[in-house]
Amino acid sequence: MQNFEFHNPTKIVFGANTVAKLAKLVPETARVLILFGGASAEKTGTLAEVRAALGGRVVQEFGGIEPNPSYETLMGAVAKVRAEKLDFLLAVGGGSVIDGTKFVAAAALYDGEPWEIAQSGGAKVKQALPFGAVLTLPATGSEMNNGAVVTLKATHAKLPFRSALLFPKFSVLDPSKTFTLPAKQIANGLVDAFVHTVEQYLTYPVQALAQDRFAEGLLQTLVEIAPQALAAPDDYDTRANLMWTATLALNGLIGAGVPQDWATHMIGHELTALYDIDHARTLAIVLPALLNVQRDTKRAKLLQYGERVWGIAKDSGSEDERVDAAIAATRGFFESVGIATRLSGYQLGQEAVEAVLAQLAEHGMTSLGEHRDIDLARSRVILEAAL
Ligand code: NAP
Ligand code: FE
Repeated sequence: MQNFEFHNPTKIVFGANTVAKLAKLVPETARVLILFGGASAEKTGTLAEVRAALGGRVVQEFGGIEPNPSYETLMGAVAKVRAEKLDFLLAVGGGSVIDGTKFVAAAALYDGEPWEIAQSGGAKVKQALPFGAVLTLPATGSEMNNGAVVTLKATHAKLPFRSALLFPKFSVLDPSKTFTLPAKQIANGLVDAFVHTVEQYLTYPVQALAQDRFAEGLLQTLVEIAPQALAAPDDYDTRANLMWTATLALNGLIGAGVPQDWATHMIGHELTALYDIDHARTLAIVLPALLNVQRDTKRAKLLQYGERVWGIAKDSGSEDERVDAAIAATRGFFESVGIATRLSGYQLGQEAVEAVLAQLAEHGMTSLGEHRDIDLARSRVILEAAL
């Protein structure tokens, strides 16, 4: 196992009717900015519950944070925080609102041009406002981690950043808040959580036995609950399992002491920035192709994954046949939830390959993966395999 430090200070408040607990979770003297996305938080009644729970405090609101939150939009919230001297942020929404809130938390106190926060990968964050979250979409894990991704629309740059100062103080996870999600977002959530787990598991073996079993359990859980999560929007227990599994997939626990890949996410971000494809869908395009191209360096783990997650027995074929079967099962899972796994499924062809490669070069994404061996030439092979 590799050396590691693990510290996750986010308090999780999980369960039905827990939004009211904001009354205790948010400091009584706080001057609060509630941040949310488009129409859903108001329409579902969640905002009304949040407002009621915060009664007695100074509360301002900032709506309109779009999926794949943009610097341009978020700077409006930064201006409001500064003008009104607000000192506590509350994100109400999915990964986009929570990620956007992390940016605002750092940018509001940043002495300089806040885009530098993203450009530095978060290294330039020296202070941040405290913030909490009410999660309405299980997918990203942003509710219990310190990472975020923001987009500079002007240049189509979608950049990740992280900082020890950007863990939520708390996150409220009420699975019944997911009942109103369209099936498409549930499918996205299943795939995003699946790929987060794979990015921290499907690398090379380092004798991290508990992390492996934990990751395999998360993957199996996602596969097991997917049909019911899609078919029965108001099945509380299924949604509860989805919500907690997605959180556990990216809260640092399974990533402790193991090599991590993240190439699928970095290539996927470029596809979203260029073509506005939902985050999870970009991952479904890249991952099967990447696993195939990286099959030699990932061989031992691909065989373990095939056997333990998909039941592909050792005596069921040659190593290459079993690796093929594991990759096919992965692609099949994404397609079973209605997500296309090739660029052609999104009406994109060779021109997209060239455009993504140019963006990867522009953003310095030239040595990706757990071995840092995915250079632009290999990204080309992966993208062409995804056509
Ligand atoms: P999202 O972009 O936050 O939300 C997608 C859509 O779902 C929005 O249109 C939103 O509508 C709607 N929605 C949210 N909750 C709803 C509800 N309860 N009922 C009905 N509709 C609802 O989706 P996401 O997948 O959670 O976040 C994606 C972003 O997170 C991407 O930018 C991705 O790069 C990032 N990400 C972050 C991490 C991390 O660790 N921080 C990891 C992976 C991905 P409204 O706008 O109307 O509310
Ligand atoms: Fe993701």
